[in-house]
Amino acid sequence: MEQTLLQFAYLVASVFFILSLKGLSSQETARQGNLYGVFGMAVAIVATLFNSDVTQYDTLFVTIAVGSLIGYILAKRVEMTAMPELVALLHSFVGAAAVLVGFASDRSMGIDGGHAASALYASEVGVDVFIGALTFTGSVAAFAKLKAKFTFFKKTYWVPSKPLLLKDRHKINLGLVSISLLIIIFYAMGASGEGGVGNLFLMTALTVISGVLGAHLVLAIGGADMPVVVSMLNSYSGWTASAAGFMLNNDLLIITGALVGSSGAILSYIMCKSMNRSILSVIFGGFGGDSDVPAKVLTPEEEAELAARTVNETDAAALSETLCAAKSVVIVPGYGLAQARAQHSVYQLVKNLKSRGVNVRFAIHPVAGRLPGHMNILLAEAAVPYDIVLELGEINDDFPETDVVLVIGANDIVNPLAQEDPTCSIGGMEVLEVWKSKLTVVFKRSRNVGYAGIDNPLFYKDNTQMLFGDAGKTVDEVVAQVGSR
Ligand code: NDP
Repeated sequence: MEQTLLQFAYLVASVFFILSLKGLSSQETARQGNLYGVFGMAVAIVATLFNSDVTQYDTLFVTIAVGSLIGYILAKRVEMTAMPELVALLHSFVGAAAVLVGFASDRSMGIDGGHAASALYASEVGVDVFIGALTFTGSVAAFAKLKAKFTFFKKTYWVPSKPLLLKDRHKINLGLVSISLLIIIFYAMGASGEGGVGNLFLMTALTVISGVLGAHLVLAIGGADMPVVVSMLNSYSGWTASAAGFMLNNDLLIITGALVGSSGAILSYIMCKSMNRSILSVIFGGFGGDSDVPAKVLTPEEEAELAARTVNETDAAALSETLCAAKSVVIVPGYGLAQARAQHSVYQLVKNLKSRGVNVRFAIHPVAGRLPGHMNILLAEAAVPYDIVLELGEINDDFPETDVVLVIGANDIVNPLAQEDPTCSIGGMEVLEVWKSKLTVVFKRSRNVGYAGIDNPLFYKDNTQMLFGDAGKTVDEVVAQVGSR
């Protein structure tokens, strides 16, 4: 294919990627946005196949076939609850690909038929390998933290959500970044001038050092701050692709990478704002209330009071009576809803209540679940209409006028400690102020803590009731009770 035609095809693909991002920014247009993305990618792949620079079709088709097969199997087999881990793992593939492209470029640099060596080109290779290795190990660490439990040869291992806080970790990070920069400078110098070539030793050292940095940055982050890490890694994977685009002289890769990188960075910024964190602290790792502030030591009186705390319990029959008498109900879904796969039953409950004239809406917290937009995906899967799904900012002021709030499988996002105790790991994070409603009913299996690992005073409030059990079962019971009234 002629180069101008190829560039034109890449431009068309880029426009479709931009339309795709625009579509994905709202639930109503997300499906269409996805289709634009698929079409843009199809144009990009077909154009690349006809690129006159592509000669080894056998290698190309084998890799496309293997990649497509892995993608198909993963997409078919992944449980909705495992999506966050899968996304983290997919980011790691982008990082690994960039490192491999970096090594291939290194080997072909300055040799016959390869890329001409120059300081500029070598620094592009160095930056690509640096971001790629960092993204790879950071994403693998995020995957391990999100999955939490691994079974090898019938033995179970746990990866705690607690941050790994090494002494002098900021100095360690700074040291690793400085060494990486020095290596890139030496590498670029070696490739400049006549007879310049790549340097496998420096490339390997850079990969190891930036790999250690990536894993360390993510392991130093506490459970409550993981949402920002997930979106930050998304952004890194975009910049990695962009750097690879410079190396391969591929405009489409540069544009696509920049789109992913900047949209991920904007999402991280939005999440940081809603969690009251500084974006710089995220980039440098080990941030958040759980990093430097020692855990609050309880006095013996406080400990005794905690042990003696009781909760009000309810059951499906009593709750259904209350729900049928209510005028307004707000449902707050959380990670446990995904875990219990209760989205379809919850929507059935909504329909039953609506048919009785009850005003039912959903309140979505930006970090609910384990993935940005996790709850929106779940509710869309159950075909919940978008106009009753409201964001935190749109509904938080409505709780005082709400008769009943159903907190289904959520914990950290409704924890009043975020406002009451600035030193706790979620201190300062915006939360849904459900306790201001007339009655809050929490659906969960026990009094266990949420992902951030802290107790929730909401459970012990006078206007809170607990409905213990798997949400899949308890919601079904409530649906049946409401239906029989
Ligand atoms: P939490 O993890 O805080 O709480 C979920 C609750 O659901 C648990 O307390 C658990 O209690 C309950 N639960 C689990 N399974 C079931 C079940 N089958 N039936 C009923 N209840 C169940 O989730 P939230 O959504 O409230 O908060 C999200 C947390 O995850 C935040 O800390 C956030 O920072 C973090 N996070 C978010 C990410 C994102 O991008 N959204 C990414 C990574 C982390 P019990 O065991 O007693 O049933």
